Amino acid sequence: MVTLANIRAPCYTFHRTVSVYSHYFIRPFFPQGDGFFKESFVHIVERMVPGKQFLSLEFFPPKNPSDWPAFFRTVDKLRDLQPLFVSVTYGAGGSTRDNTMEIVTRMKREFSLEPMAHLTCVGATEESIVSFLDDLVAAGVDNVLALRGDRPQDPAVVLPESIDFIFASDLVTFIKKRFPTMGVAVAGYPESHPEAVNPEMDLQALKRKVDQGGDFIVTQLFFDNNYYWDFVRRARELGIEKPIIPGVMPIFSLKVIQKVVSLCGATVPPQLLRELEEAEAQGGAEAVQALGIRHARSQILDLLKGGAPGVHLYTLNKDDACLELLEGIF
Ligand code: FAD
Repeated sequence: MVTLANIRAPCYTFHRTVSVYSHYFIRPFFPQGDGFFKESFVHIVERMVPGKQFLSLEFFPPKNPSDWPAFFRTVDKLRDLQPLFVSVTYGAGGSTRDNTMEIVTRMKREFSLEPMAHLTCVGATEESIVSFLDDLVAAGVDNVLALRGDRPQDPAVVLPESIDFIFASDLVTFIKKRFPTMGVAVAGYPESHPEAVNPEMDLQALKRKVDQGGDFIVTQLFFDNNYYWDFVRRARELGIEKPIIPGVMPIFSLKVIQKVVSLCGATVPPQLLRELEEAEAQGGAEAVQALGIRHARSQILDLLKGGAPGVHLYTLNKDDACLELLEGIF
């Protein structure tokens, strides 16, 4: 089958060769890394202007190739919101590697958006990470969200133990050393990461990622803004000074959100859960979505009013619902 990736492969090979050589031989003479080939780099954090609150959007790569045209129509529609950046998720173990790469590449080239590729290191080797980052460089993508990732739940998918990377901080260190021109964001957990020994140690782990070179933090979803405000306060007390961007996930379906919450450990406030269940019983999926939109909208308004630097919206690849919930805000 002829795909864009096949057509682009020979170009990538050339770019990758040049880029690999640039890391080892040219970079020492040009401290801005690939500056020999590229004049400037877009570091998303440098575009965050104090007092100018922004929106960023997160997408996931559709599994089925037949869904791609609709996906890019969604991207095109949401482009009207003028997001500061758009991020694209990455399947742990590299399961979406090529799709993530192709989407960020097209977002940059065809939609003039500023993409940030997510990248997980669970089960990864240095070679696989270098290969992905080289491809990002070749595609002109300057920002990455450095994550550990989770082991796949499907017992049929077995990932090797990574001896190169244990935690996301190892990935941040590696990227900063080998790809110093890459902007690097990291993940933070207002309600603590589910595996964390305790909230303090989780925050120490976040500090390590920032100290290793993380430019800014994007948070896990939460449904009660008090978790975010408390998290920011505790992070500042610990000396974490980088921007902390709240991640907001609208509830579009009760079933989907219950699955997400069971995986990431976020709390749905009991009152909200009751209202969602009532909405479903009385008005079905449509009523749940309407309530989810109202809740996300009020969360976002409160976050902006309280002085958050911006809002990172988990779009779930839904254009109309996202446009409705952001109407008049961005
Ligand atoms: P880490 O920062 O490594 O933390 C993982 C755990 O280890 C934490 O409990 C932490 O407290 C602990 N820890 C860290 N360092 C140490 C240390 N030195 N000693 C002891 N304990 C330590 N997953 C995907 O697969 N693909 C995606 O695209 C994706 N996007 C995401 C986007 C955002 C904004 C967020 C918040 C999460 C995303 N995730 C994604 C989920 C993420 O991969 C999981 O939450 C994963 O379990 C942890 O990743 P991390 O980068 O936060 O890991």
